[in-house]
Amino acid sequence: MKLREECGVFGLYSNNRSADISESLYLGLFALQHRGQEAAGFAVSDGRELRCYKNLGHVEHVYEQAHPHLMRGFIGLAHTRYSTQGESARAENAQPMVLRRDGRWLALIHNGNISNARDLRDELLGEGVTFNSTSDTEVLLHLYARAPGNSPAEKLNHLAHQVLGAFSIVLLDGDHLIAARDPFGFRPLVLGQRNGDWIVASETASFEMLGARFVREVDPGEAIVIDANGLHSARFGPERPRRQCIFELIYFCRPDSTLFGHNAYIFRKESGRQLALKETKETDIAIPVPDSGLPAALGYSRTLGLPLELGLIRSHYIGRSFIEPHQASRVQKVKMKLLPLREVLAGKRIAMIDDSIVRGTTSRAIVSVLREFGAKEVHLRVASPPLISPCFFGVDMPTKAELIASSRTLEEIEKFIGADSVVYLSLDELKRCVRESNHFCDACFSGNYPEGSLPEDVRCAIATRASA
Ligand code: SF4
Repeated sequence: MKLREECGVFGLYSNNRSADISESLYLGLFALQHRGQEAAGFAVSDGRELRCYKNLGHVEHVYEQAHPHLMRGFIGLAHTRYSTQGESARAENAQPMVLRRDGRWLALIHNGNISNARDLRDELLGEGVTFNSTSDTEVLLHLYARAPGNSPAEKLNHLAHQVLGAFSIVLLDGDHLIAARDPFGFRPLVLGQRNGDWIVASETASFEMLGARFVREVDPGEAIVIDANGLHSARFGPERPRRQCIFELIYFCRPDSTLFGHNAYIFRKESGRQLALKETKETDIAIPVPDSGLPAALGYSRTLGLPLELGLIRSHYIGRSFIEPHQASRVQKVKMKLLPLREVLAGKRIAMIDDSIVRGTTSRAIVSVLREFGAKEVHLRVASPPLISPCFFGVDMPTKAELIASSRTLEEIEKFIGADSVVYLSLDELKRCVRESNHFCDACFSGNYPEGSLPEDVRCAIATRASA
């Protein structure tokens, strides 16, 4: 299994008041499809009225349905999502979340996870607020709508002192577009420009899609407010250390995106180079686990002068509607998704490069397939450290007990996976791939959650498990 990012956000403010931006919203969001494939939604406003459409499905299909419902307008939001763990896919949990208050429209989209959302929701329910969804995004919207203050930054400041966790949000407030990132800056948010139009998005890949230019990242604890007078920046929330999600660079973001000052493709190649520098085994070929293991495999094989081969090719026919046969073994399911090439694999000592291991069950099935197709030896090389702790900041991750590295030694992992050897990058080696490594969150690898990011009961439960 792979980890899943929970959302992609995209917002656009056109300097042309009679613009029709819905097509640009679609294209910008299309570039973020990998960040969530369960639901999508669009909201467009002319500064007075607002139309929103959201539903379950891929960006393309939801936009097809949305287009007749959307209005001509110069401000808009678009969002794509997965449901969070334990939450079923429900159209009402799709975003944007919208409400009308004090005679103006508010719409909000969110990437992240509010770790004290349940308590905040109970408080709001006690104050008579009614909810249309089970999503923490709706909690954020109500908190913002009810926050004291005259400016968006004042309202966000109030909100940021109430919520714990991660949020990169884009908000439409009347005729303002607001982009804000929580004070830790867990999740990405970037600012771009095209012919005077302002664009905010989860990743720079959206800018490439639209022919827009990257301007800069929205800083942690910064609110950018765009209105008829241009762009204004304000600080909000408590002072926190910068803690950007390093997993964005390892796996989540598109390889062509540049986040936190690093191009993901270059970062991933460097992580492969770091793996190669510690190699002690002799192998004949390197193969990537497609597609995400490819850049690391390139860096690894080039550093060692080892031939890089595509021993597994991803099937083009696996899409959202793909239904895995219930009875099929995990090995059978792997063969349906990855096509093993006997001509490449037979008789070879193989270094197999993957970006991460979560439960280990998929790696075990892949190793079994490689052996079935004649591999003599299989050495698994992982371009990130062992995952030992869950994420509370917007990544859908199994529980600690389900993470293979949380409770097993390296020898036990090798045995479970059936590989001749398994080597991970250490946390130090991973951090050599970035500048200012203390600006990154590594809690899922280290178990060290930033002070002030979690509610007390969650922090206590983690501490109790760690000492058990
Ligand atoms: S815990 Fe891991 S996945 Fe979650 S924000 Fe931190 S680095 Fe990213």
